[in-house]
Amino acid sequence: MITEEKKQKLISRPPVVVVLGHIDHGKTSLLMAIKDFGVLSKESGGITQHVGAYQIIISPKGREKDGPSTGLGQAKKITFIDTPGHEAFSAIRARGAKVADIAILVVDSCEGVKPQTKEAISHAKLAGIPIIVALNKIDKPEANPEKIKRELSQENILVESLGGKVPSCETSAKTGSGIEELLELILLLAEMEDFKADIQKNAQGVVIESYLDSRRGPTTTLLLREGILSRGDIVGTSSTLGKVKGLEDFQGKMIKEAFPSDPVIVIGFENVPLVGEKFKVFESLENAQEYLKSKEKKTKFEREVIEISDKKVLNLILKTDVLGSLEAIRSILKNLPQEKVILRVIKGEIGNVSESDIKLAKDAKGAIIAFRVETNKIAELLAQKEKIKIFNFQIIYELSQKIRELMQKCLKPERIRTDLGKMETLVIFRTEKNRQIVGGKVIEGRIEKGTFLEIFRGEEKIGKGKIINLQIDKKNVELAKKGSECGILYQGEDRIQEGDILLIYREEFRKEEL
Ligand code: GDP
Repeated sequence: MITEEKKQKLISRPPVVVVLGHIDHGKTSLLMAIKDFGVLSKESGGITQHVGAYQIIISPKGREKDGPSTGLGQAKKITFIDTPGHEAFSAIRARGAKVADIAILVVDSCEGVKPQTKEAISHAKLAGIPIIVALNKIDKPEANPEKIKRELSQENILVESLGGKVPSCETSAKTGSGIEELLELILLLAEMEDFKADIQKNAQGVVIESYLDSRRGPTTTLLLREGILSRGDIVGTSSTLGKVKGLEDFQGKMIKEAFPSDPVIVIGFENVPLVGEKFKVFESLENAQEYLKSKEKKTKFEREVIEISDKKVLNLILKTDVLGSLEAIRSILKNLPQEKVILRVIKGEIGNVSESDIKLAKDAKGAIIAFRVETNKIAELLAQKEKIKIFNFQIIYELSQKIRELMQKCLKPERIRTDLGKMETLVIFRTEKNRQIVGGKVIEGRIEKGTFLEIFRGEEKIGKGKIINLQIDKKNVELAKKGSECGILYQGEDRIQEGDILLIYREEFRKEEL
């Protein structure tokens, strides 16, 4: 029996919810509608930066004015992870951190199950968290939620109304209908799962967002999973450490301590920690330093750029609005096929596209990928002068499509040559600057219009050109078979003479797959 350790003190904690789904199905809108519904205090400490998470409070009193009482009893909290798309969520998960307890799967009631819906389902399943389906855009006349439910059943998501176990509801982020019901489903599920945390433990959790604030230094949103975090605590992740000098709630209001499932803004890390890293509180600075040292090796390895062999390399310069986006983009890049073209991030940082980025792009022959950032005026002029293209994106999915396209362009199409036949030149009818009209006999195989030829004089190859037109008995034809006499309109630099043998071949280019 362990008696030395501090006794556990388990308390119920609010559920942490992540919103997943296909692009444009309404994740952002739904997160906004929920925020409008449940964030009581609109007071803010002036935070304009994206903090990556928020918390809502639902009190029965507040709900009565909107509709009948739902008998929820005392006020309840729900924490929402508010990151750009599920790519960010998977970046967090890729670092092995458990961050959400429940996934809301947003599906457009008109569009139905799409590739990213399926991806989202597998993300949630891999994370081992329950799903609630939000059939969104129900306000649209063409909405067909029953059809969507059947589509979902094909993906092994069987909703309750079809006899399954997955709760679902119809929502409209536009009109606000169904939002309350969705929140109720979350609370119901949370009640059933009874999420607990130990407040006797040293505070620990996950980095949700982080950036370098020019005034305040490294500024981080942490999601607390265990323990109580207080001002003055020594915190460490695998890449950096610090002391909690500033502690604010997600709205930027100063607080003294934070509890499990709370998203908090922490100022005081020495460096900007990586999104998805776990953090914990240490007894002393020495302990934190020791921990950091033990982790340093691994982190360095993780950060290393991909080794280059003889494959093609596409150099990228990534500029993003927040660290969460940068991490999400990096994780997407890792998942792109790189057997033939390797992606190498030569610079990845937060901030607008600057002059030095353009210079670097020029030297490294790299592409600049700007995500939700702008380009400084001088940098823009320099880019124009140096003919450096800056690719701007607001949506991660579009960014990943573009990078695929750029990778594809690195691949030279494969040339495929097929020999068709031979013609013996019998007569030269006409010779112009780049063209000749030549008559002859097909002595092997066939000739096709639009194909190519090589000129042989004895053993020697004289040159090559293209067959622009083909005639038999002065009539245009597509094909001349062995034994037939024909005339060809040849285009090329090299001259054909009587007696030359023309080797006819077809040339095609096949796009190589990534
Ligand atoms: P996300 O890519 O999943 O974050 O999708 P957004 O939240 O950006 O929404 C995509 C588009 O759908 C936007 O034009 C929204 O205004 C619209 N939209 C989102 N939810 C609804 C809804 O419930 N009803 C209607 N009519 N439009 C919606």
